[in-house]
Amino acid sequence: MSYKTVNPYTGETLKTFPDATDAEVAGAIDKAHNAFLSWKEKPIAERLALLQRVADGLRKEKKEIAKLLTIEMGKLYSEAQGEVELSAQIFEYYVKNAEELLKPEKLPVADPAEGQAILVCDPLGVLLAIEPWNFPYYQIARILAPQLAVGNTLLLKHASNVPQSAAAFERVVLEAGLPEGLLQNLYATRNQVETIINDPSVHGVALTGSEGAGSVIASQAGKALKKCTMELGGADAFVVLADAPLKETVRWAVFGRHWNGGQVCVSSKRMIIDAKIYDDFLSQYQEGVAALKAGDPFDETTTLAPLSSQQAADEVKDKVRQAVAHGATAIEVGPKVPSQGAFVQPTILTNVTPDNPAYYWEFFGPVSMLFKAKDEDDAVRIANDTPFGLGGSVFTARPEHGAEVAKRISTGMIFVNHPTMVKADLPFGGVRRSGFGRELIGLGLKEFANHKLIDIVDINAPF
Ligand code: NAP
Repeated sequence: MSYKTVNPYTGETLKTFPDATDAEVAGAIDKAHNAFLSWKEKPIAERLALLQRVADGLRKEKKEIAKLLTIEMGKLYSEAQGEVELSAQIFEYYVKNAEELLKPEKLPVADPAEGQAILVCDPLGVLLAIEPWNFPYYQIARILAPQLAVGNTLLLKHASNVPQSAAAFERVVLEAGLPEGLLQNLYATRNQVETIINDPSVHGVALTGSEGAGSVIASQAGKALKKCTMELGGADAFVVLADAPLKETVRWAVFGRHWNGGQVCVSSKRMIIDAKIYDDFLSQYQEGVAALKAGDPFDETTTLAPLSSQQAADEVKDKVRQAVAHGATAIEVGPKVPSQGAFVQPTILTNVTPDNPAYYWEFFGPVSMLFKAKDEDDAVRIANDTPFGLGGSVFTARPEHGAEVAKRISTGMIFVNHPTMVKADLPFGGVRRSGFGRELIGLGLKEFANHKLIDIVDINAPF
């Protein structure tokens, strides 16, 4: 059985779950389709009132359901509670804004004979969401809230190591009073995922995860001619210009690389520092990282979480070994991490050259790559020398100049003087191997909509 809860701090297997049967999967697709037929007919105000109840339900149960994240994937309990709040805020964003965002758009036409053309957003139907374990609730909220707002329904295949979190979210949605069938959590196998994508009632698939999974699912969706969005990996550049206020910049660098145990698609993974301040940055950054405290993720004083599983920790350590074998220097930082739990010693990699395969990798854990840039142009060049294009940041004492530098960095999101920020009212998504499509705001709301033209034409219009 692949769906199971293994506490990454204690190593204990706490619960296992059988895979869904084929009959359960078929039944869920039917149920989702039937739910869609009535959900799409509900006036949007009624749909949104129900979404508010989901936000309320999440908040009401925050302390309780946050525990599951800590138990299943090792997230610091304080961060887990923050994630529940953020998920509630995403629902509220759509409660407040979806009706306005979905208003029909009158098209300016060149010739009155073209008629009165309007563009409306119709829902498509049942969608499949495939989600990763690193933000088990936020990832569901990011796709579920906009899709329910527009009138679609969702089947969820969550990561196999967070089965209880997936079930808890489904329960909160049902207990909020939403009709059955709007969100169904399935412990689906990979074969069943393909079956779902091929089902004629299913109209799209949204995946957040690795490039490998993205490539498999995007090709299955392509073969079935279904719309898909891909939110994949990243190796965010954290560019520090020579004039950046060092103390504050270092504080953000430590946070940007290590929150959520360093397992964020938009973690600040590549620090690109102007040569003039490189040595100062390195020593202050080392100090900042050394001050992190690894330990029990339920303990309020812990600031560095274990990784999501022993396997994940082993993979990161192996990647560090490979980077070193190809010429990088690894500096282990801070007191030794506990031997109990899926911890990785915070590590800084320097001397990672473009001929080292690690130069182009994503390290999903507390490993920072530091690069020395000759000047600003060189920093921009290094920032763009990556297969990924998710987030990034530029630190400088001149924010307006920072925005000019930001324009030259090719990613879906870039921030001046802050690591990539994750908020309910900012869009999320990337380019190149970080994927395609956007989640959140109006863009996410309309990813799985039929942008339908309705045109009222004078019957006597000239040919
Ligand atoms: P992963 O292995 O790709 O897993 C993600 C999801 O895809 C899981 O539900 C997984 O199910 C499923 N999956 C994987 N291969 C599949 C296949 N062949 N068929 C059907 N489903 C499949 O990702 P991960 O390594 O756990 O997560 C970390 C990655 O996600 C990182 O690269 C990170 O940067 C990226 N990420 C991106 C974003 C974003 O918004 N761009 C956000 C968060 C994370 P199982 O668990 O059952 O294998």
